[in-house]
Amino acid sequence: MTYFSSNFKLGILGGGQLGKMLLFETRKFDIQTYVLDPSNEAPSKIACNKFFQGDLMNFETVYNFGKQVDILTFEIELVNIDALTQLESEGVKVYPSPKTLKLIQNKGIQKEFYINNSIPTSKFERYSDLQNLQSAICNLQSAIQLPFVWKCTEFGYDGNGVKVVRTVDNLINLPNVECIAEEMVEFKNELSVIVVRNVSGEVKTYPVVEMEFHPEANQVEYVICPARIDDKVAQKATQIALEVSKAFDHVGLLAVEMFQTHTDEILVNEVAPRPHNSGHHTIEASYTSQFENHLRAILDLPLGNCESKVAGIMVNLVGSEGYSGNVVYENIEKIMAIDGVTPHIYGKKQTRPFRKMGHVTIVNQDMVTARKIAEEVKNSIKVISK
Ligand code: ADP
Repeated sequence: MTYFSSNFKLGILGGGQLGKMLLFETRKFDIQTYVLDPSNEAPSKIACNKFFQGDLMNFETVYNFGKQVDILTFEIELVNIDALTQLESEGVKVYPSPKTLKLIQNKGIQKEFYINNSIPTSKFERYSDLQNLQSAICNLQSAIQLPFVWKCTEFGYDGNGVKVVRTVDNLINLPNVECIAEEMVEFKNELSVIVVRNVSGEVKTYPVVEMEFHPEANQVEYVICPARIDDKVAQKATQIALEVSKAFDHVGLLAVEMFQTHTDEILVNEVAPRPHNSGHHTIEASYTSQFENHLRAILDLPLGNCESKVAGIMVNLVGSEGYSGNVVYENIEKIMAIDGVTPHIYGKKQTRPFRKMGHVTIVNQDMVTARKIAEEVKNSIKVISK
């Protein structure tokens, strides 16, 4: 099949920032794209060939959209899987496959998949609702001890479906949904490895990245590439990420999030079958960005080099607390005057506290310098409203 300057159409479910950054690459290769998103102001709207507004969870909407394209991919996991399965059975190529998505969409099923495939992960138990969890904990029938991490199995994102339960009283305010109780991992580092695999089975991995947390706010402040860890640990993390990708028989990008424990054990936390926040720095820091490689993988083209050219650090730009309304990026000129600093503005017109509005990449030959600049960036730029 010829993709370049042809009639070929790639469909993308979801029109957020990940889709927008993927579209830079389709433009580079002159590949036609159709995008479906519920919002008429989706960031991807400006960069696709044809935009459709509609509900990603609605069978008919997703099915009718999919019928118009040759290959279908997604930039968000919350899509109607039945429609994808139906489209696949009718000859539309869907990558990553709906089968993989089904294993990932529910965190309980995802964790069981790791156990069944001998992939190291923290201990957990599945509960159909809150009452079952409460009685298991209160009657000491659970193998999981307090404190533990509660996670809703579906529809959580960016930590909003995750709570630390320290006492029995903490259970009272949890929503009554299907959930898992996970052993609390005392980790030294949170790491991520992005694996890319094309349809023919060629596989490559990006260098291990590390999430550096704010010491008080307990929020990821910086994504750092390469992770400042032992080579041995990096090799182990990469090996495990490859095993996860193989177990899923994955096509496209797979971001594997892991914990490095104090004894240098690696435990898989969760995966994302798409371009990921932990790979944004690859646009500036790598020979081939994660977005270009996702496209190469799902189109079964040769994969690009995943190595880094320089040290890369990513800072998320989220809406400051206390500001809602038309967004203003205060001090953006100031940070752009620094060497190796590139802001990415996703195109959301309205800011809200903690809304992901963009990110900034810092590249430098030297990691220590990059880290210093990242701090300067973090302390300068503010996402506020007029
Ligand atoms: P989300 O899908 O919302 O990103 P995650 O499962 O990644 O949710 O959890 C969000 C964060 O919560 C993780 O990045 C990590 O810091 C913390 N966390 C998750 N699971 C555990 C665990 N078992 N032990 C300790 N911390 C955890």
